[in-house]
Amino acid sequence: MAAPRAEVVIDLDNLRHNTAYLAALAPGAAVMAVVKADGYGHGAVEVARAALEAGASWLGSCSLAEALALRAAGVTAPVLAWLDPPGTDFAPGLEAGVDLSVACSRALDEVVDAARRTGRRAAVHLKIDTGLSRNGCPPEDWPALVERAASTPEVEVRAVWSHLACADEPGHPATDAQAARFAEAHAAAVAAGLSPRRHIANSAALLTRPDLHFDLVRPGIALYGLNPVPVEHDLRPVMTFRSSVVLTKRVRAGTSVSYGHTWTAKADTTLALVPVGYADGVPRALSNRMHVWLAGARRPVVGRVCMDQVVVDCGDDAVAEGAEVVLFGDGAHGAPTAREWADTTGTIDYEIVTGMYRPRVTRTYR
Ligand SMILES: *Cc1c(COP(=O)(O)O)cnc(C)c1O
Repeated sequence: MAAPRAEVVIDLDNLRHNTAYLAALAPGAAVMAVVKADGYGHGAVEVARAALEAGASWLGSCSLAEALALRAAGVTAPVLAWLDPPGTDFAPGLEAGVDLSVACSRALDEVVDAARRTGRRAAVHLKIDTGLSRNGCPPEDWPALVERAASTPEVEVRAVWSHLACADEPGHPATDAQAARFAEAHAAAVAAGLSPRRHIANSAALLTRPDLHFDLVRPGIALYGLNPVPVEHDLRPVMTFRSSVVLTKRVRAGTSVSYGHTWTAKADTTLALVPVGYADGVPRALSNRMHVWLAGARRPVVGRVCMDQVVVDCGDDAVAEGAEVVLFGDGAHGAPTAREWADTTGTIDYEIVTGMYRPRVTRTYR
């Protein structure tokens, strides 16, 4: 078998471990595995199946199209889709049994219209903006939305839900403020005659706020083994990004490397060429600021990251062409992680792994 050029290896055993670990931390709640953005770059269908095997009972998608893709692959578990533009035809969602989020009366109209056209009752989760100021119904419009939904026979209100702004900073006062508004929103729904489920916890709240687990928790990043909170947890990274050495060469001291000659060898050394670059998800901002795991050691990438390749300084070590190169993975033995890339480039590991969903990178499952 040819050595890989640019490949992400998805360890579904680790995903199952993480799912079971998170489910055990929220024993009173159902687990909604969030698989938006093609499962944070890991493959939505494969992740959904593995998470359902390991204790999740719901799936969360961003768009209706993502939810329908799960159905098309034969996934029958409850799915919630929460963000689509005005004018979206929700009829295929109702026909496929997809639950829909509604945050305003215009969206409610569109869902009711789809329910009338299909003859199917819409399962709706009403979203309240408790302080993220992003999606969700503003509190001042909430009583009207809740009363309309409660008196619309085409709609079954399954849940009241919201999303947290600062749960990854345990103790942040915004979380308590959001929890208080969430309680008020739920009380208003009950006063309108509804008995909805409640859900507000993302991974960070699942890990740090058992009081906010309610009926359902919605982990995303933690399923993929990346820990959003500064507290140790047994979460195992699911994605490894790997490549291979395609060429090695011995160069003299004073030799400069890659575009712009931003790095020059201080001594004679062996360089290894690795055929991945920014077109494969290696940020150019990591030029001269990253390491790879190669031949049993962390080794620096030297010179600029190019579109298709990087160069690794191997010193006087023997490195074989065809040898495996781990760009990031579970961090075992000090190998680099997606978190390390994120910290160096000023982002979060969510963006790193989600950014690996690209046509030049092959994906394999283990
Ligand atoms: C993405 C998302 C989640 C999951 O968030 P994580 O921080 O990855 O756990 C949960 N709920 C909503 C509404 C989301 O958009």
